[in-house]
Amino acid sequence: MPEIPPERFKPYTPNVHAVVRLEEALPPEHPVHVFVDLVRSIDLGHFVVPSGPKGEKPYHPHALFGLLAWGSLHGVRSSRKLARLARQEATFVYLAGGGAPPYRTLARCRRDNAAAFTTVFQETVVLALRLGLARLGHVALDGTKLRANTSKHKAMSYGWMQRREGQLKAEIARLVAQAAAQDAAEDQEYGVDSDGYSVDEELARREARLAKIEALRARLEAEQRTEQGLTDEQPPVIEDTEQRSFADGDARMMLLKRGDYGYAYNAQAAVDEASGVIVAADLTNVAPDEGHLPALVTQVRTLRATTGRDDATPTTVSADAGYFSHDNATEDGDGIDRLIAAGRDDPAARTTADAPRFTIEAFGYDPTADAWVCPAGTRLRRQVTPSGARGRPTTRRYQADPSDCQACPLRARCLTPAETYRVLVARRGHAAGAMRFKLRQPAARRRYARRKVIVEPVFGQLKEDRGFTMLSLRGLVLASAEYLLACLAHNLGKLLRVCPLPVARPATVVAV
Ligand code: SF4
Repeated sequence: MPEIPPERFKPYTPNVHAVVRLEEALPPEHPVHVFVDLVRSIDLGHFVVPSGPKGEKPYHPHALFGLLAWGSLHGVRSSRKLARLARQEATFVYLAGGGAPPYRTLARCRRDNAAAFTTVFQETVVLALRLGLARLGHVALDGTKLRANTSKHKAMSYGWMQRREGQLKAEIARLVAQAAAQDAAEDQEYGVDSDGYSVDEELARREARLAKIEALRARLEAEQRTEQGLTDEQPPVIEDTEQRSFADGDARMMLLKRGDYGYAYNAQAAVDEASGVIVAADLTNVAPDEGHLPALVTQVRTLRATTGRDDATPTTVSADAGYFSHDNATEDGDGIDRLIAAGRDDPAARTTADAPRFTIEAFGYDPTADAWVCPAGTRLRRQVTPSGARGRPTTRRYQADPSDCQACPLRARCLTPAETYRVLVARRGHAAGAMRFKLRQPAARRRYARRKVIVEPVFGQLKEDRGFTMLSLRGLVLASAEYLLACLAHNLGKLLRVCPLPVARPATVVAV
């Protein structure tokens, strides 16, 4: 167990009488005993825990972290509720060591240690791998949107920011011009000390509003300049409909469930098939999933390297069509076997009259045979123009056997009336075609079919069981920390299953 100098903090188990009472309340087989052991095994030497307002010793990091993690595991994220439970509920009192930290201390601990939760999350994953709970055989990726702690009504579009700024500036100028005359008239009507209508108040309100809008617009422009690679002097191109929230400037408008739009973050998770442990997690304000795959795969690669897995036992990483891109499909190999759906449905299954003609997206590419495979399963072989033949030589022309096309039930979807066999000129798209071909093989299909049942129950546990549908902290850094705390608590919950119960509990606690 990592050493934390005991003299720096309030003792972890300060009240022997409370602990003895808890021994009666908490039977030896209660999982909280294992949880305490797990929490104590985590290195929290880098945690920042402030002293009390009167210079009292700070609470022990393991006590505060234990409360936050146990609370998250049981759907309690409010620091006020946690502080109350730390005085009233046996498991929370036990985790707090009887210390009963106030809610401000818990809230500050969560905010001040936002960066530390990443390290602790990784520790829980490595522990799960070392104990053989997680195996990195098959890891399924998915993302879910978590509502940000703001509302649509606390936001403004870029176009409206510019119009409103103009309006407010005009109103401020008018009020300034009227101020002296109106103040004099109001002094006469209400008296000098009257709290009636005041131009100064109106002016202050408008100036404060204008400052807020200007700050939000400047922030939006700075973000877009960085995105568009412009200098500080160059004006960025921003659509009038682009909007930002005053309450949480990092949150973005995203599609939530059932066509409902709202301010949210995109929470990503890679879940281990064997255990349901979240092995990689990330939270961003980028709505499409596609760009998140490289970072999650990098986390999985790091774990493989940390635990000494070689390329002979690859990790299958499966992801739905939202993650499909040419680059994501290309970077297969090096111990990672990617299975990314290249489309949402099988093109051959669409038989309606308005179904489009098969394009290259309907064909898979078999790299070992250098052949494209059509929806009917026929191979289109590469046709190399013989040397000396007339016309421009083509090296990317693939052709089906006319006898296969003649009897094909899908020919109406594949051939024009003038064609008797299909020719495909494929200059690019081989990586995407190879991924499609791979996913059409029965073994890969079976593995891919597991994706949903691996990752979706984990989001179900986080959102439905623990009520984690909305973030309570604002800003990308704090929102990420909140999500990682939920993920590491989930992992600790999984670890409870495999860690042995301690042999002797509170009876051996040393009174301080
Ligand atoms: S027409 Fe030929 S290439 Fe097209 S789907 Fe049928 S067999 Fe395949």
